[in-house]
Amino acid sequence: MSLRSTTSLGRRTFLTGSIAGASLIALHPFSANAATNQAHLRIMETTDLHVHVFPYDYYSDKPRDTVGLARTAAHIGDIRAEATNSMLLDNGDFLQGNPMGDYIAYERGMKEGDIHPVIAAMNTLGFDASTLGNHEFNYGLDFLMKSLAGADFPFLSANVVKNMGATPTGDDTLIKPYMILDRTVTDGDGVEHPIKVGLIGFVPPQIMTWDRRHLEGKVTTRDIVDTARAYIPQMKEEGADIIIVLSHSGIGSANHSDGMENASVPLAALDGLDAILTGHSHLVFPSSTYDGYAAVDAAKGTIHGKPAVMGGFWGSHLGVIDLLLERSGNEWQVVTNSSEVRPISKRNEDRSITALVESDQAVLDSVEQEHTETLAYIRRAVGKTSAPLHSYFALVADDPSVQIVSIAQKWYIEEMMKGTEYEGIPILSAAAPFKAGGRGGAEYYTDVPAGDVAIKNVADLYLYPNIARAVLIDGAQLRGWLERSAGMFNQIEPGKADQVLLNPDFPSYNFDVIDGVSYQIDLSQPMMFNRDGDVINQGTKRIVNLTFNGAPVTDDMKFVVATNNYRAGGGGHFPGTGGETTIFEGPDTNRDVIVRYIVEQGTINPTADGNWSFKPLDGTSVLFDTGPKATDYLDDLEGISMEEAGDGPDGFARFRISL
Ligand code: MN
Ligand code: MG
Repeated sequence: MSLRSTTSLGRRTFLTGSIAGASLIALHPFSANAATNQAHLRIMETTDLHVHVFPYDYYSDKPRDTVGLARTAAHIGDIRAEATNSMLLDNGDFLQGNPMGDYIAYERGMKEGDIHPVIAAMNTLGFDASTLGNHEFNYGLDFLMKSLAGADFPFLSANVVKNMGATPTGDDTLIKPYMILDRTVTDGDGVEHPIKVGLIGFVPPQIMTWDRRHLEGKVTTRDIVDTARAYIPQMKEEGADIIIVLSHSGIGSANHSDGMENASVPLAALDGLDAILTGHSHLVFPSSTYDGYAAVDAAKGTIHGKPAVMGGFWGSHLGVIDLLLERSGNEWQVVTNSSEVRPISKRNEDRSITALVESDQAVLDSVEQEHTETLAYIRRAVGKTSAPLHSYFALVADDPSVQIVSIAQKWYIEEMMKGTEYEGIPILSAAAPFKAGGRGGAEYYTDVPAGDVAIKNVADLYLYPNIARAVLIDGAQLRGWLERSAGMFNQIEPGKADQVLLNPDFPSYNFDVIDGVSYQIDLSQPMMFNRDGDVINQGTKRIVNLTFNGAPVTDDMKFVVATNNYRAGGGGHFPGTGGETTIFEGPDTNRDVIVRYIVEQGTINPTADGNWSFKPLDGTSVLFDTGPKATDYLDDLEGISMEEAGDGPDGFARFRISL
């Protein structure tokens, strides 16, 4: 009764019996009302799974109701049962993105014949096809091809090319560019008809930058829209009745530019396409997120009038597109369509999360062993640190927990700048202590002793799932950036004792330390910015002795600064940020960058380099509250004179700093 394969591609058990549950499930109106020669075809999308199968956060080592294909899968049975004909497609980024993925890639490996756990999970659900996302390339082509080999469904990608032809259709692509599936659909009278469903897949061409070290000399990429324009007529010629695009690319500008990363809008404008699965942006479509985008109907879920969907990320939603098809002569046309997403959890008013579905046991069972192995992996050492990584003094002295983030970011951005017009411009790195007491309390600090570093410690070093970015700024913007950071401190009166150092209004995540330059903070001066980032003291100079390679930083010097998407996009309203200065928008999270750095280095040496300090103020002291465990590390401090000064409030310990 369901969409049935007339080819011999793998198991198709999901295709029968879906109507068995229909006594409990209301048929979708397209199925219920389909007339003679009309058929309801339902397309389900998963996207950006990033190896999330169990509803589990391996970084915090805790169950998590907002993620996991096992949960998304629980929707699939119902959604199939509501429709006479259905297909299940994945839109890419399945192979990397959580510690289970890193465990397989870095530890267990993929031997010939191994089944990657995310593929094993997908195999239990009867996917019809998938495309490749950019993250499929993170572990190299050999790992990728071994992983794909374990799937009992096909993969399509039209714009990753081994040997360029004169036009895209003449290319020798890495994997099949498209497929035309011979299927059978049941119409409103219960009569079966053959249909040819064309599927074609695309990935952002930027993989050549993001994974240059794995791809250079092996493959190249083509523009998404140009490639689609070339292939669609060929697919039509081969008899495709309808064409569904698996676009691992976001919904962005309506104007096509060559090589654009988020190309789904101009892609949807092409003739011959009937439905567009989107992804890569880790957002939800249809949703108000996309209100006001040109050519996009964010409520109805169409782009250029064609149904489109984006099913969130990490299994958070199942995307659903419904097509009512009509047959006239030998041709199928889409006569009406709709689009929706089904979430696996909901956020309550008190910010708690309620799961909306139970896990699918077959999916859990398929990766049970790898889940257990991943738990052991995140809890054991993957590298070593030669110095303790703690944040007790991160707000008053250069600090190893911030330094390691800085070092890893710089290492990554250096690689990404190779071969670009920015290669050779000095690279600085900005990082802030995320866990530094404050409203989080006296225990709320990073504290990893010297010795073994486990994956779960990385979450402690980098709290937020930010994405790595680089901005290009000048010396004046750099100075402004540091002035903004220096709002962390109250203005201090020279010659007075025991003044309160920290500005309680200023969150520590906005205290960016910038590595690669040296500077001092003159606390006797007023702060330049208020809490919201508005200039309140234009001429102030808290940042003094700012030098690069021993020479003063001048206003016209150029620097690349490694940072994250929050800061680069204008979070905290820092000078030199806000979008226009962004020169690199990578796909990798800062956390992934740190894990990669630690795994590749083996032993890390995060000893702070002391590149910033307070400017000495004779006869002046300040009081600073931090976690009581800070006492254990007091002797390691260099470049600052500090002594214990009793207890602070709420379990904090108090220290006196002589400036
Ligand atoms: Mn992704
Ligand atoms: Mg430093």
